[in-house]
Amino acid sequence: MMTGTLTGTLTETGTGQTMSVDADLAAIRAIAEAVPDPELVVVTVGDLGIVRDIRTGDGTVEIDVTPTYSACPATLAIELEIETAVNSAGYAAVVRRVLSPAWTTDWITPEGRTKLKEAGIAPPIARSDDDSGAVQYFSQPVVPCPRCDSHDTARLSAFGATACKAQYQCASCHEPFDYFKCL
Ligand SMILES: [Zn+2]
Repeated sequence: MMTGTLTGTLTETGTGQTMSVDADLAAIRAIAEAVPDPELVVVTVGDLGIVRDIRTGDGTVEIDVTPTYSACPATLAIELEIETAVNSAGYAAVVRRVLSPAWTTDWITPEGRTKLKEAGIAPPIARSDDDSGAVQYFSQPVVPCPRCDSHDTARLSAFGATACKAQYQCASCHEPFDYFKCL
């Protein structure tokens, strides 16, 4: 029997199975990315784009996760939930916090942006949406209403339900809504 290489097979698990590394990593990624964000709930960590890399380590699976807002109190909860989900599936997982490159709201997937909007949260205005070349994210952006798409909206408060959101109100449909601030 050939030994000494991880190529193609993961080292034997406790149950004596030998599995394909690629298939395992894909399965582990799917499990990790399906974990819901504890604050936003409507989106998963996969939607946020924060699961950066998954690889086999020394008898474990290492999962690189980049926090969203670095001061976000949900960071530790997210890491624990990912570890728990992957461990529950029978893999020994270790989450590593990777701070560089820093997460930006541009990492949110198109699916994640759609889910936010459907939940009544205006998704962050993507840098790629700005064709003026001027970046003015720290001034007040024009945030389209997630319900009626009107641009006639006004900011009520710099902070919404959580620090990463601001509270807006639409002048067309009069509904207040949260805007997921750009970062
Ligand atoms: Zn509206």
